[in-house]
Amino acid sequence: MGTPSSPVIISGAGPVGLVAARNLNQAGIPVIILEKSATVPKDLRASTFHPPTLDMLAKFNLSDRLVEQGLVCPDWQYRDRDEGIVATFDLGVLSEDTDYPFRLQCEQWKLSEMLRADLDATDGVELRYGHSVTGFRQDDDGVTVLFTDPEGDEGEIKGSYLIAADGAHSPIRKQLGVAFDGLTIPEIFLSISTTFDFAEHIEQLSPIAYVSDPSEWLVLLRTPTLWRVLLPTDPTLTDEQIKAPEVIEKRLQDLCPNPEAYEIKHATAYRVHERVADSYVHGRVFLAGDAAHLNNPLGGMGMNGGIHDAMNLTEKLINVFDGASSDTLNRYERQRRKVALETVQATTLRNRKMMSETNASARKAYHDELRGIVADRAKHRAHLLKSSMIQSLRDLETVA
Ligand SMILES: Cc1cc2nc3c(=O)[nH]c(=O)nc-3n(C[C@H](O)[C@H](O)[C@H](O)COP(=O)(O)OP(=O)(O)OC[C@H]3O[C@@H](n4cnc5c(N)ncnc54)[C@H](O)[C@@H]3O)c2cc1C
Repeated sequence: MGTPSSPVIISGAGPVGLVAARNLNQAGIPVIILEKSATVPKDLRASTFHPPTLDMLAKFNLSDRLVEQGLVCPDWQYRDRDEGIVATFDLGVLSEDTDYPFRLQCEQWKLSEMLRADLDATDGVELRYGHSVTGFRQDDDGVTVLFTDPEGDEGEIKGSYLIAADGAHSPIRKQLGVAFDGLTIPEIFLSISTTFDFAEHIEQLSPIAYVSDPSEWLVLLRTPTLWRVLLPTDPTLTDEQIKAPEVIEKRLQDLCPNPEAYEIKHATAYRVHERVADSYVHGRVFLAGDAAHLNNPLGGMGMNGGIHDAMNLTEKLINVFDGASSDTLNRYERQRRKVALETVQATTLRNRKMMSETNASARKAYHDELRGIVADRAKHRAHLLKSSMIQSLRDLETVA
């Protein structure tokens, strides 16, 4: 292994930045992570780990620990508000394709916490909290990253490469001037967590259920301790109006009558975008995760796709430190941008269309298609290979 003379710098300690750091660190490459928050953020975000992500994280001895702290979901459902179950997908059919033939429901902050603890206990990686990256310069020899420290003082550090894993509003992407084209979904997504056990009240409910409806589609997701409900919401309303307790109560009572009032633990309302950066590789600077692409959460592909970016990019960086041509790094963009556009964006947009379809015959056609898929083992497996993101990883091998 050729050891670089200066560290790889990572902006952002979300799941993508931390996984990138872990993989580089395991290969003996020095890393400095700059994170603007004072600690690893613990907000409620992604909760689904797809099988290939667990296959990847096993390299760091994380998958079994995540399984211990999460909820193993052997199946997931497509339902309709009026008709009930349309199709139940059995992840067991992937038993020869992955060591983890299930979806794991586990909050993303648990992964971040584990990675942070593992990195803290390892030499060769430095995590600087309260450091906000403000810009960078680069030349043939390396990058210089500019930051503001917790006291508000400005500083700079030199590194060999810079990975921008600094999220949706990535200041690095903005400095690069990279176009981030796409669309904003014309509704607010309201995510509510409750102690109410929907499985006791909705017959044969899987722990993950996508429920179609022409006027109010929804997602029901079980996490280790709570149920989450995701509902589309009028974007003209204020955050206060959307999250008013009586409004949430009525929406949940309409969904599933509960003689007692719903106990609400969290409610988050957020705008959702479908965007992919025009380019991911700029000399020694790379975009990864939400900094590179955003999508709606219907299919649980945001965090998973970002982790796949982190692994793909850092494997290539490791190869370059080992002597491979730096052109190898351009393949990261060709491979991962293709996945963002052709798998993640295409799938999540289609999922939203299926769930919100208002035309009765089109809705029936979607349902018939899904029923046909689960009735045929080969189609069932092919569908799960795609929805679990295994197929997108296999297809990458053919991208030059
Ligand atoms: C409210 C919400 C709900 C979501 N729900 C789902 C879901 O149900 N399913 C799903 O798959 N995905 C969901 N997502 C998306 C998912 O959380 C992201 O895809 C995932 O977090 C991407 O990881 P990341 O590391 O790229 O970015 P992030 O997790 O956003 O991490 C970026 C990090 O960079 C730091 N940072 C930002 N600017 C700077 C700077 N200038 N200097 C230093 N550090 C900086 C931030 O503090 C942050 O820690 C949700 C997102 C949101 C916002």
